[in-house]
Amino acid sequence: MRPDRLNPLFAAADSLKGVGPGLARPLERLGLTRVKDFAYHLPDRFVQRRAVSDLDEASVGENIVVALTPLEYRSSAGRGPFRVLAADSAGNVCALTYFGRNGGWAKKQLPLGETRWIAGRLDQFGQTLQIVHPDHVAEGSDLALGQLVEPVYPLSEGLTQGRLTALVQLALAQVQPLPEWIEPGLLDKFQWPAWHEALAQAHRGEHAAARDRLAYDELLANSLALLLVKESNRTRVGTPLVGDGRLRGKLQLPFGLTGAQARSIREIEGDLAQTAPMLRLLQGDVGSGKTVVALEAMLIAVEAGAQAALLAPTEILARQHHATLTRMAAGTGVTIALLTGRDKGRARESILMGLLDGSIDIVVGTHAIFQDTVSYKHLALVVIDEQHRFGVGQRLMLTQKGKRTPHCLAMTATPIPRTLTLAQYGEMDVSRLDEMPPGRQPIDTRVVAVERLDDVVAAIGRHIATGQQAYWVCPMVRESETDDIAAAEARHAELQARFGDTVVLVHGQLRPEVKDAAMERFASGQASLLVATTVIEVGVDVPNATLMVIEQAERFGLAQLHQLRGRVGRGSGKSTCLLLRGAALSETGRERLALMRETQDGFRLAEEDLRLRGGGELLGTRQSGDTPFRIASLEQIQRLLPVAHDDARLLVDRAYQLEGGGLTGERGEAARLLLYLFERDWGVQLLRGG
Ligand code: ADP
Ligand code: MG
Repeated sequence: MRPDRLNPLFAAADSLKGVGPGLARPLERLGLTRVKDFAYHLPDRFVQRRAVSDLDEASVGENIVVALTPLEYRSSAGRGPFRVLAADSAGNVCALTYFGRNGGWAKKQLPLGETRWIAGRLDQFGQTLQIVHPDHVAEGSDLALGQLVEPVYPLSEGLTQGRLTALVQLALAQVQPLPEWIEPGLLDKFQWPAWHEALAQAHRGEHAAARDRLAYDELLANSLALLLVKESNRTRVGTPLVGDGRLRGKLQLPFGLTGAQARSIREIEGDLAQTAPMLRLLQGDVGSGKTVVALEAMLIAVEAGAQAALLAPTEILARQHHATLTRMAAGTGVTIALLTGRDKGRARESILMGLLDGSIDIVVGTHAIFQDTVSYKHLALVVIDEQHRFGVGQRLMLTQKGKRTPHCLAMTATPIPRTLTLAQYGEMDVSRLDEMPPGRQPIDTRVVAVERLDDVVAAIGRHIATGQQAYWVCPMVRESETDDIAAAEARHAELQARFGDTVVLVHGQLRPEVKDAAMERFASGQASLLVATTVIEVGVDVPNATLMVIEQAERFGLAQLHQLRGRVGRGSGKSTCLLLRGAALSETGRERLALMRETQDGFRLAEEDLRLRGGGELLGTRQSGDTPFRIASLEQIQRLLPVAHDDARLLVDRAYQLEGGGLTGERGEAARLLLYLFERDWGVQLLRGG
């Protein structure tokens, strides 16, 4: 249960004065749904203004605050602007210009002959000085001079700076001091302000210490939650699984294992034999062969008389895994079932029975396999596939129910830098598949200007005419998902007009049956071109698909591009990836795409991407969505995460060693608040008495 004192922060956005249904959408797009989201909606930058006594002191283009006295109103004919001519103390005349409004509003704010304080950007229009749409007009100097520094917030359509600033201020008014969760020595060392003060400062100006503190809070919450999972896991009891090899011996694989696969399997085997439940991450590029490692692990569980489950992120992937595993394990005699949210009635009942009486050895499915209605005879191993976004901790929670905790193997293809591995997975043990199966040909990657779209379409035509298949990936770049889908539908329609029914479309808003049917047609080879909007939907294995086009490639993170590209190059044939780039490409954008051409090494790409995007590029951080953080920038993660991690370690050690598994005492209580504040409370739930 969330502590009461945090409730005002978690109140819905519409509890703020002035937020009605009209603003709900634009706010939601920015992720602003609760009071605390506003408090944490930090400015991208600040406008700095200079107070000048007259316009002679100011230069054109400068943001200023100045006292002016309106002399005359001038409306122009037709749609022209409304102007108020005003004079400064030295007699210079300046026009205050308003577009698209009748003069009524300006007249009220700027009565003739009365001095007003004006804040805005000084421009020149022909021979006249002007300020277009002043940011502020005030009677007294306090207001204008009090805003010499003003935050500039990330906006979405339908919102203005003024509006958002006002809402943020209302939210900040709800912020009360909270007990300190940061170690006093650290606060001292970094000269960080207290939490409530840090929030206020971060909105008031460029206060690096305040921003760092807020980022640190987020990192600490995350580290703490992950460590609590790990620690609670350590104190739990699992079933030691020792296999006799009888099932693995019957596996008839058409290939020998790579060294990396064999090593990973040995590491997993070692963990499974222990009483403490395994908590291991299997990290390997797309195509590195994680599935067979998972299968070997699950067979060990079955050999030891227990059951295993494989959790896939989507229905489509669950089906594909089920098919692959069934095929690979054909000679072993194990029973492998598929269970998804869509299974109903008799079929579902019979699977539930099988899981309960133990006649099913392995189940593959979506989160449906963990619903309360599903009981197992003896589930001893859970494999979680492609959990590449955040929420690993949360997934792990699922497994930590009941008296015996299953062993857990999480698999990911996202090549993330080492610092981010720690951020995302905490101190899980890691096995890396750092060696590709033999015979893979590098994917021929080219960067093509979007102006050559016609050539690209022609190339697709030649490609599918040879009986091979292709992917066409449309980017998710616009403000709303609806727009993205409209763009993908338009592209699909164009390509279909050209190539006919062999083109199918998959996107996030299709009904599952429709989506699956399209995927099915592509996977079975009936369709040759798959147009898709998202990464997940193309998380499939179709070896005959050897060409991929990615539109507006510069908008994707490198890791994401790399993962997408990994969908081709799965067979033995030569594969190609065409990265379409927009006309306006930044220097960094150019370098990033060049890297894609140069290397196929996912981990190298991840490290380089981090380096290229560097510190402070907030926008990039937010867009790419490849960190579980909202506040901390990549640069802050790299600099502060190790500190947060060590500090979290101390807190957790103390909780477990001295206090028998609780977060108590003053700092412990404060840390608990922190977990709730950052919604990492799944960590708290693991605590005794949490
Ligand atoms: P991942 O899940 O890591 O992306 P998969 O498990 O789907 O990769 O494997 C990709 C492809 O490589 C599959 O077709 C699989 O059969 C094949 N494969 C796996 N291991 C080997 C190996 N050691 N030698 C040759 N091919 C392999
Ligand atoms: Mg896979």
